[in-house]
Amino acid sequence: MSENVATETPAPTAVKPPAPAKPKLKALVERDSCVGCEYCVHWCPVPECLQMTGGEQVEGSLPLVHVAIEICIGCKLCEQNCPYDAIHVYKLSPEEIEKARPLDGIIDQTYAAGGLD
Ligand code: SF4
Ligand code: SF4
Repeated sequence: MSENVATETPAPTAVKPPAPAKPKLKALVERDSCVGCEYCVHWCPVPECLQMTGGEQVEGSLPLVHVAIEICIGCKLCEQNCPYDAIHVYKLSPEEIEKARPLDGIIDQTYAAGGLD
């Protein structure tokens, strides 16, 4: 005599959680390394993405370059050509991009060690 064994299948969840947003490549400039030489501006293929105006100014130096983070395409030309190793491309989550936007894409060197300041 065979016994009826009910097979338990998990109930499907009614609403699937949204897939996590994909990180994007974005350039960020280091406050302590950028000397404002403007070299990266000439390499950037996206008009108005890197600008010298409106950025932060360190006493006694040229204004820092700043990144219009929403239009940066992460091509790395700035990173590859900066003579001072002052601008790097990072894989940023949407939350990190939101954090970097009001900072003009300018970060401290501690970023690589653990998040936007
Ligand atoms: S990021 Fe590099 S190339 Fe661009 S202005 Fe600063 S020092 Fe010059
Ligand atoms: S990664 Fe490319 S698009 Fe973004 S700032 Fe650098 S050169 Fe411009």
